[in-house]
Amino acid sequence: MIVLRTAREIELIRKACILSAEALQLAGEAVKPGVTTYEIDQIAYDYIKKHGGEPNFLHLYGFPATACISINDEVIHGIPSKKRVIREGDIVSIDLGAKVDGYNGDNAATFAAGTISAAAKRLCDTTRESLYKGIEQAIAGGRIGDIASAVQRYCEERGYGVVREYTGHGVGAKLHEDPSVPNFGTPGRGVRLLPGMVIAIEPMITAGDKAIRQLSDGWTVKTKDGSLAAHFEHTVAITAQGPQILTQLG
Ligand code: MG
Repeated sequence: MIVLRTAREIELIRKACILSAEALQLAGEAVKPGVTTYEIDQIAYDYIKKHGGEPNFLHLYGFPATACISINDEVIHGIPSKKRVIREGDIVSIDLGAKVDGYNGDNAATFAAGTISAAAKRLCDTTRESLYKGIEQAIAGGRIGDIASAVQRYCEERGYGVVREYTGHGVGAKLHEDPSVPNFGTPGRGVRLLPGMVIAIEPMITAGDKAIRQLSDGWTVKTKDGSLAAHFEHTVAITAQGPQILTQLG
């Protein structure tokens, strides 16, 4: 069931989204060679708690941490660990959210540890840009397929793989709501976009083949071919005035 939010509810979701975005920014600034993914997770946890929020990934479906932190060929759902040390040249995807006053925010970005290769930078830049191509299509009267195909076309034209198995989603009183927001599809197809819909758009893009595999930890998703992956996400409200990125900071 897709819930349409009032302007007041969208402002409440925005509060959760701003806290989510601040926590993500702080976590991203901590990405440096020698830092563990556990330390980054703690920074996000402390910030969200200190500002009156709840880390909404923590314990969701049994996930044990505040943030999913996925390095290099890990696409999503990496589990923070004291043993996992970030190294020079790594690309580090951080996905996290906060719940505030009953509403959720969700966002993700891929950060560079020190100096990264030109190929890694191009992958990250393309994935970030594809998110904005999708957001441009988050227009009332359009369709989910308009968003999905905009992301897909932008990435595939540049030779990248678009992960199929995981998608964006509605965001509201629950972190994951209807509708599903895939990163591949056909313009003009799928769910009609209406004012008051709040969705997370989150391209998961690979430098090589799009095939993925899950590790035996039950969480971490990697590329099958070992190629690099990047992940960017914003929570976006569809309004009569156009898309509003709720996880955008000042
Ligand atoms: Mg999400």
